[in-house]
Amino acid sequence: MKKLFLLFSLAMMAATTQAQEFEFDEPVFYAPDFVQFSTNGPDNCDYVILRIYDTATSEEPCNTANMIHGGDNLWVIGMSGNLKGKFYTYDFGHGETPGLFAKAVGVNGKRAALIDLAETNPEGWADDRRPVCKSPADLVIYEMHHRDFSINRPDAKYPGKFLALTEPWAIEHLKSLGVNAVHILPSYDYGSVDETRLDEPQYNWGYDPVNYNVPEGSYSTNPYDPMCRIREFKQMVQALHKAGIRVILDVVYNHTYDIEHSNFQKVWPDYFYRKTADGQYSNGSGCGNETASEQPLMRAFMLESVKYWIEEYHIDGFRFDLMGCHDIETMNQIRQMVNKIDPTIFIYGEGWSAGSCALPTEQLGLKANISRMPSIAAFSDEIRDALRGPFDDDTKPGLLGGAPNMEESLKFGIVGAIRHPQVDMTNVNYSKEPWATEPTQMISYVSCHDDMCLTDRLRASIPQLSEEELIRLDLLAQTAVFTSQGVPFMLAGEEVLRTKQGVHNSFESPDSINRIDWANKTRYPHVFNYYKNLIQLRKNHPAFRLGSADLVRKHLEFLRTPKGVVAFRLKDNAGGDTWRNVIVVLNTLKQKQSITVPKGIYHVVCRDGVINEQGMGKLRGGKVSVAPQSALIMYED
Ligand code: CA
Repeated sequence: MKKLFLLFSLAMMAATTQAQEFEFDEPVFYAPDFVQFSTNGPDNCDYVILRIYDTATSEEPCNTANMIHGGDNLWVIGMSGNLKGKFYTYDFGHGETPGLFAKAVGVNGKRAALIDLAETNPEGWADDRRPVCKSPADLVIYEMHHRDFSINRPDAKYPGKFLALTEPWAIEHLKSLGVNAVHILPSYDYGSVDETRLDEPQYNWGYDPVNYNVPEGSYSTNPYDPMCRIREFKQMVQALHKAGIRVILDVVYNHTYDIEHSNFQKVWPDYFYRKTADGQYSNGSGCGNETASEQPLMRAFMLESVKYWIEEYHIDGFRFDLMGCHDIETMNQIRQMVNKIDPTIFIYGEGWSAGSCALPTEQLGLKANISRMPSIAAFSDEIRDALRGPFDDDTKPGLLGGAPNMEESLKFGIVGAIRHPQVDMTNVNYSKEPWATEPTQMISYVSCHDDMCLTDRLRASIPQLSEEELIRLDLLAQTAVFTSQGVPFMLAGEEVLRTKQGVHNSFESPDSINRIDWANKTRYPHVFNYYKNLIQLRKNHPAFRLGSADLVRKHLEFLRTPKGVVAFRLKDNAGGDTWRNVIVVLNTLKQKQSITVPKGIYHVVCRDGVINEQGMGKLRGGKVSVAPQSALIMYED
């Protein structure tokens, strides 16, 4: 009982500090001789029934009870006896549900499970520590789907599972590439993969949340055992942490799989969803519905959910899907809550929605409002599309395919979406105002799981592209991303020239489309080596990750270049760098270019598709020549 009281008091403390109208007081407190069920729901329910089942699939409950109204949207009941291993549902009169905040579930997440969470901790879990990260600018984020990453690995013991990320081949690959954060695509319990048919081919990205606070069953070795997915998820986090890699969770609070069957709707119809003025469900997510983060209980739910993933699963960061659907106030409250736990936990999101939301634009977590969301970052479509072309037409090229007038947009991405005296905002593709206060509020990237991957996009937008040119442009694109002052982010598999066979929206495409072809690692060793050396270059040199807008304005200056070329200098030992002045030239053109740089003796570390920090000869300043479709990086002592 001691543990019970401790948990209660912790919940109360958290609720007090958040000072909200609602306290999110959902958890079921398990003790060997007693279980306290408590769940949020409307005060005016005629009844709330608790049903206890022996298994996740047994037809009849072994026990039922009417819950007691505890006031303030709370329904409670205590049950004596040892209920460990049993399952339960709530019924608010709209069908059975595991509740809003189930922490363990049976197969397909239909029923919640009574377990002792402490028993799911792998050995040494208490000693698990978050890898050090002083600034988000130091992060190198690798976005991956569990199945894409490991399903095609002949040496994987657990292909497609959480445990694949504990295996030596996986850890070795990530460490040798040099990434220090993996961003895992939705890994909470989602609905589109039937966990009872895992012997059949099924694939989904998982943007269809069912139980937000339980790991997905299909990524575990046994979705029928409620402990298994939780333990294996923790083993994954532990293995990555041991390797110095942070774990970032993709969280999709902005919509649910559907409305009719959602746990939100079954508990409190229409409370959690926004409606338009004419009473229709709003669809800002493009998935048929949009949750209402501004509703006190939804806000409290999001806060508690983020906190739970940090405390129970040691998660190090969150990527908010369609953050532009959430209200700014909720995002800021989440940031403040997280700061109290560990301010180095990184929060970023998509600063847009997929349709119009039923909340005024000025209240939404959009990219344009990032300056009102301190220490929260958003993806930059400016740098992405400047390089590869616009999101709405895969056949249109960006700078890499010779599109005109994209240089300023690339420069805007290089400074990290902040105000900079040499970036002419009138010529930037989307934003006409800088939207980031600090460069660490911008995610720098050229591809992610959405849309085509980089090689496919280059092929689709540039006719008659030879393989040699494809590789040159691929490496050049990532050089822009990784020398940007934003937070660099890459899609898993780009380092081995991944292709999705031209499929743009591969959310339910088969493994044959989505899997990473690991044979490419030996087929194109120079591609992997370039990525690896590029990441190492960034990690070795603070000049590329200044982390502060003032430092970027002080140390980063653009050089005069012909059209199709962008060049900049990081001067005066930027960020305490041992290199006095660093020059980066990005030549997207098919011809070699001659550009003027300040006089001096420069050591070349990147030229014509090769990076070597030990040096590749020297160049005199004045006029320097840059090979076609490649980057030149050099420094002065
Ligand atoms: Ca599931």
